[in-house]
Amino acid sequence: MVNSTFKVVGDDHGVYYDNSDRIIIYLNKHENIEDLLSTITHEYIHYCIKDEGLDDDQEERLIYCVLWSEEYIT
Ligand SMILES: [Zn+2]
Repeated sequence: MVNSTFKVVGDDHGVYYDNSDRIIIYLNKHENIEDLLSTITHEYIHYCIKDEGLDDDQEERLIYCVLWSEEYIT
């Protein structure tokens, strides 16, 4: 099971560590609640697809497409 932590200050929006199943979300990098929710979703998708054998670039591309998919459907 993945553990998630919120920190006030950090250099990125968030990060997922696959070797420890840990997500850290950095609050200072977000403009509003929608931005924050998008980062949380992004990092949890990393967790969900961690066993798919994708490299970092493939994971980022897949997550990008998933997060934009609702716009394409409607
Ligand atoms: Zn990512």
